[in-house]
Amino acid sequence: MQHRIIVLGAGYTGATAAGRLARRLHREDVTITLVNAEPDFVERIRLHQLAAGQDLKPRPLRAMFAGSGVELRLAQVAGVDAGRRTVTVADADGVEELSYDTLVYALGSGWDAQGVPGAAEHAYELAGRSGALRLRERLARLDAGQAVLVVGGGLTGVEAAAELAEARPDLDVALAVRGGLGDWLSPKGREHLRKVFGRLGITVHEHADVTAVAAGRVSTADGRDIPAAVTVWTTGFAVHPIARATALEVTGTGQIVVDATMRSVSHPDVYAIGDAALVMGPGNKPLRMSCASGTPTAWQAADAIAARLTGGRLPATTIRYFNQCVSLGRKEGLIQYVTADDRAVPAVLTGRLAAVYKELICKSAAWGVANPTLGLPSRRRRVTRARAAAAAGPLGARLP
Ligand SMILES: Cc1cc2nc3c(=O)[nH]c(=O)nc-3n(C[C@H](O)[C@H](O)[C@H](O)COP(=O)(O)OP(=O)(O)OC[C@H]3O[C@@H](n4cnc5c(N)ncnc54)[C@H](O)[C@@H]3O)c2cc1C
Repeated sequence: MQHRIIVLGAGYTGATAAGRLARRLHREDVTITLVNAEPDFVERIRLHQLAAGQDLKPRPLRAMFAGSGVELRLAQVAGVDAGRRTVTVADADGVEELSYDTLVYALGSGWDAQGVPGAAEHAYELAGRSGALRLRERLARLDAGQAVLVVGGGLTGVEAAAELAEARPDLDVALAVRGGLGDWLSPKGREHLRKVFGRLGITVHEHADVTAVAAGRVSTADGRDIPAAVTVWTTGFAVHPIARATALEVTGTGQIVVDATMRSVSHPDVYAIGDAALVMGPGNKPLRMSCASGTPTAWQAADAIAARLTGGRLPATTIRYFNQCVSLGRKEGLIQYVTADDRAVPAVLTGRLAAVYKELICKSAAWGVANPTLGLPSRRRRVTRARAAAAAGPLGARLP
């Protein structure tokens, strides 16, 4: 019998982890099943581009994993029973229970209306492909001069406002931010952001705490009423509720708590990566939900699982930040250099060069999913029964 590894979610982290495991473990010893709801790999970091009317390159998962040793299962994950080591999946043929010896949980996140009245009913979002397509379709029906308000001054909101303003200069695009525009950036970074937003004609509503969304407008805590034919909600991401419904140890927000090898602190046969995991980074600060820090969690988990199954050395890399790469439309960008724990330092890269840099980052993120060992040769090692039993934890593994 082979050691059964199931990876849930084929986003940046799940797809990377599955592919990397397949390159590290001997095919006779393991089965690797990758479960995903959609048939394509979605370049989530480009969804503001999709919403703005650009077409993204199709990346079918079947082609990506053909001959890789990873079995793709297109289905919706409905639940995880961490005690019985099963996953419930549903597709057009019905509901099925899959058993695992090792689980990698990488279901990512979606948008977060944060309980703001009216947001769920009236706002649009771009945290997932269906939301971005719905927004794209709505924007296409707007007439010149109509107001689009992006709510949320983080990286996603800034990128979305710039992309929409560049693609649709006929619209009246605005951004509502809780504090000041780009207040986490260095002075040079902030200045550049203001300059580009000014050039793109984006109105910025600062210190605007949006407390309600209605059809055609939003209200703020200090009594402002901001008109918006379309409100785009980008105030943060929320993880899917599946992990919270399990016996796994999760945070108040539902992220799975893991150790430095991405292994669940409560269930040694479960690993969590990407947005779905609470990973402590430099300075004992949780890593933010991002592709930048999520991808290394996928490498770390795959290498740790392979090491535990084959007797190799556990990875001991500290996941750190180097820069924040912000697209400001297709022609402008901002690369804000940061400390290991993600605080801005004075240095920035701006202008056309920064736009090219960000485009390269997006391309290499997708390339990295299809090349999970980054082009480096990898040996598929044999799994031993004793190691697999130890790796699976106290319940014992189901290996030969
Ligand atoms: C518009 C936008 C721009 C961004 N820009 C950047 C950026 O520039 N840099 C950066 O570092 N980060 C950026 N991010 C954040 C980044 O996209 C996420 O942090 C990253 O995608 C997380 O990777 P993940 O693998 O954890 O989850 P995802 O990439 O979200 O993958 C999760 C996968 O699980 C699947 N799934 C979810 N639920 C189920 C289910 N129940 N059943 C089956 N399958 C399921 C999904 O279909 C998806 O394939 C951006 C996000 C957005 C929305």
